[in-house]
Amino acid sequence: MTPKEVLAYAKENGAQMVDFRFLDFPGIWQHFTVPISEFDETSFEEGYGFDGSSIRGWAPINASDMLVVPDPETAVMDPFFKVPTLTVICNIVDPVTKEKYSRDPRHIAQKAAEYLKFTGIGDTAYIGPEAEFFIFDDIRYDSAAQFAYFFVDSVEGIWNSGREENPNLGYKPRHKEGYFPVPPTDSQQDLRTEMVLKMQQVGISVECQHHEVATAGQAEIDMRFAPLVKMGDQLMWFKYIIKNVARSHGKTVTFMPKPIFGDNGSGMHTHLSIWKDGQPLFAGDKYAGLSDTALYAVGGILKHAAALCAFTNPTTNSYKRLVPGYEAPVNLAYSSRNRSASIRIPMYSPSPKAKRIEVRFPDPSCNGYLAFSALLMAALDGIENRIDPGEPLDKDIYSLSPEELADVPSTPGSLEEALKALEADHEFLLKGDVFTQDVIDTWIEYKRSQEVDAVRLRPHPYEFMLYYDI
Ligand code: GLN
Ligand code: MG
Ligand code: MG
Ligand code: MG
Repeated sequence: MTPKEVLAYAKENGAQMVDFRFLDFPGIWQHFTVPISEFDETSFEEGYGFDGSSIRGWAPINASDMLVVPDPETAVMDPFFKVPTLTVICNIVDPVTKEKYSRDPRHIAQKAAEYLKFTGIGDTAYIGPEAEFFIFDDIRYDSAAQFAYFFVDSVEGIWNSGREENPNLGYKPRHKEGYFPVPPTDSQQDLRTEMVLKMQQVGISVECQHHEVATAGQAEIDMRFAPLVKMGDQLMWFKYIIKNVARSHGKTVTFMPKPIFGDNGSGMHTHLSIWKDGQPLFAGDKYAGLSDTALYAVGGILKHAAALCAFTNPTTNSYKRLVPGYEAPVNLAYSSRNRSASIRIPMYSPSPKAKRIEVRFPDPSCNGYLAFSALLMAALDGIENRIDPGEPLDKDIYSLSPEELADVPSTPGSLEEALKALEADHEFLLKGDVFTQDVIDTWIEYKRSQEVDAVRLRPHPYEFMLYYDI
């Protein structure tokens, strides 16, 4: 839409308010609202001022005045507010230089998409994330029950499919059998469907929704692939809609990768393909129907995987998911068959247009704009430098002996390891000024001080179980 069209659309839909959205550095959507009388065509040039210093990971206090400038392409009526409200995603601009802010994740994604064109390799990177999440009745952070959960090896009975009933009417999924019996075992069908309808309402194409493997109310909703920046925007809508639909039914959702010990965690398998002039570049006559370009992209992602994890798996909790036995990848290998590999080549469709790679280590705690951009930059580095991905690993990686696995590198064991890897390996992200050195340094510093150290320095409840009576 042009600014004019946005204004007409707002009027048509009776919008009384306009809500501006952007995200902080870690990836949570922020907003503020103006009455529609404060919104006209000049808004798209002049923007609105706000204090950037209170946003996590952003400008220091001495340079805190910033502008949000709405992107007309993103305007849509918000599906939740009682008063009709137009919601617009914004770019962050420096009021003095009028330059886009280098730490704005959306700007980083825009630069990544531009860099792809600049290389001449392709013109569009398509991204399809499969973000999984848990729907709970109750988080119980502060209660004794949450504390007790650390003390049991089996979580059945405590979380029991995320639903408590009185009387207990049974039909709870058995352990790891959430994928995917019909209701009444699946108690969240209507909830997921309502989420899908709301997504469609804001213009997101949804391909499928289903219960996931974990028994405690794990779910998956799959959006149809879209270009990188657009998918960054959609992932923000996706989380917003899922959380708000759940909340409107008295439920709560988490995208943390491993909320429950002993059951599957939540991944965000990310499908990637690169196109040029309407032609898919990943289809060819090499392994699993891939092109050389695609294999080099795989080579780039595997080579930089440890550093990538600092963006694709950016929480201390992420590494509790990347362990054997829960369908999450632990080894940096690729395969067409193997779901235990970090990169899988889906074989569902013979169509060249469907040819893509599925990167399986990312999880939904990531900032999508940053994660997708970093993945693309690694793929491009692989293509530009013809990085050989080595032989595919078409065996069940979980069942291989330590000797057989000796040459297969594994995913990082902790956020600290991933940050160290990023510290040592980030040249590929700096190309085209996509990620600046400041962004890399700030990210590492932020994650270390606010998350790694914050968790490391606190006594863990399970330590009481192990050591209290020592
Ligand atoms: N939940 C699994 C993960 O952590 C994926 C399960 C699946 O979609 N096959 O990646
Ligand atoms: Mg899936
Ligand atoms: Mg899944
Ligand atoms: Mg998948």
